Amino acid sequence: MTKISIDEMASFCKKKGFIFQNSEIYGGMAGFFDYGPAGSEMKKNIKDYWWKYHVQDREDVVGIDGAIITHPKVWVASGHVSSFQDIMLECRKCKFQERADTFIEDKLDIAADGLKAKDLNKLVSENELVCPKCKSEFKEAQDFNLMFETQVGPKQDSESKAYLRPETAQLMFTNFKLAQEAARMKLPFGIAQMGRAFRNEISPRNFLFRCREFEQMEIEYFIHPDKVKECPYIKEVADYEIIVYSEDMQKNKKEAAKMKIKQALDKDIIKTGWHAYWLAVEHKWFVDLGVNPDNLRIRQHLSDEKSHYALDTWDLEYNFPFGWKELQGMANRTDFDLNQHIKHSDQKLTMYDQKQKKHIIPYVVAEPSLGVDRSFLVFMFDAYEHDKERGNIVLKLDSKIAPIKAAVFPLATKLEDEAREVFDLIKKEFPCKFDRSGSVGRRYARADEKGIPFCITYDFDSREDKKVTIRNRDTTKQIRVAIRDLKDILEKLLKGEKLEKFGKIIQ
Ligand SMILES: [Zn+2]
Repeated sequence: MTKISIDEMASFCKKKGFIFQNSEIYGGMAGFFDYGPAGSEMKKNIKDYWWKYHVQDREDVVGIDGAIITHPKVWVASGHVSSFQDIMLECRKCKFQERADTFIEDKLDIAADGLKAKDLNKLVSENELVCPKCKSEFKEAQDFNLMFETQVGPKQDSESKAYLRPETAQLMFTNFKLAQEAARMKLPFGIAQMGRAFRNEISPRNFLFRCREFEQMEIEYFIHPDKVKECPYIKEVADYEIIVYSEDMQKNKKEAAKMKIKQALDKDIIKTGWHAYWLAVEHKWFVDLGVNPDNLRIRQHLSDEKSHYALDTWDLEYNFPFGWKELQGMANRTDFDLNQHIKHSDQKLTMYDQKQKKHIIPYVVAEPSLGVDRSFLVFMFDAYEHDKERGNIVLKLDSKIAPIKAAVFPLATKLEDEAREVFDLIKKEFPCKFDRSGSVGRRYARADEKGIPFCITYDFDSREDKKVTIRNRDTTKQIRVAIRDLKDILEKLLKGEKLEKFGKIIQ
């Protein structure tokens, strides 16, 4: 990967049709983005692969697809109404608003995450921090709830107040019993969901990294509370290697270290097999989709960073140009969420244990939760490479998520009809593109920049030998194959088989 800034990535994404600023013709809406022709295909591929990997390929996970607006009591029970907030600074004069903790972190270069309004006010006055726009003083910092409110039905009163969901997770708890009974699931099992969520961020920043509307892919994984230490799948990941950054390493200023999952468990760095298992599974999902494992690590939360209900929390992080940042947090949430909903709904969200002859409340041992948009950004940064020799960007996207799988070129205008026949042969099998304009070199460059894994050229010899040339995006190696075999070969190449297997390399 070639390191570029987040702004350079944003303009690359716009130019190539991946991401547009929402309602740009009206000056744009901060924190909202639209996926363009290439981006919408790629986003769909990311979600499809997530669903296949986490739900369809597993016996122990079932899916749901919940509504964006739910009963407002859900958000009372979950704690979002009372405490899902950031602290806001507002300028007395020009009304400029900024999230207090990140503003103070940037200005004073200290950690301010989790500080209360009172402490933040003190820091502002002690350091005489003023509005960056007009240099006036700030008002007292105050709490700001991040949920978007809306009204349901024609009456516009407090009774009709509802919220756009700030996360998909609560729907897995409210549907816990229905999904478990309908799919006849036994512990351990998970409920998965993908969908949109909304957070009224005070100052959205870093392009897709923090948006006001975004999409999540989440699992709540339930286990028997007495079996926290027994993960039946741990053998599958025991030898899997991950860069680990434990609390001890952070406190003692040690470097993060690459180790096998079983070592991390033996040394008691990761406390439970379940936790280790899900961290490895989530790490592997990114690696399967082409992300370099050296750009991923797991970092343990420091004891003052953990949520009050969590026994142990780890973040999966990616090395972004603006530093190592969280992709997903993985907390052992015990029975906190189900208990909250039991209290507020007065319903029995329990399971019957035949052996113990009593009802138990399952524990959520891990909550693999990913932002689709944030993952999109990871794949873009990891794939982006400036190739000096070629003089263009090569977007080395894994073929599973590349928006377009192949491009077909006629070498000359005269060959267009025949080349189009080749295109027709494969266009229903894979998303393909027909490109006839400009020199072949220019067309290769365009395909490289869109991340198209293979280019197929129909030339004058093709008329005689009924063969075409296939070029690999990453290596620029080429082979010549019979048109009648093209579909099968392309399918195998897209699954990761080597070009060399299907013909002699020509340059
Ligand atoms: Zn101001």
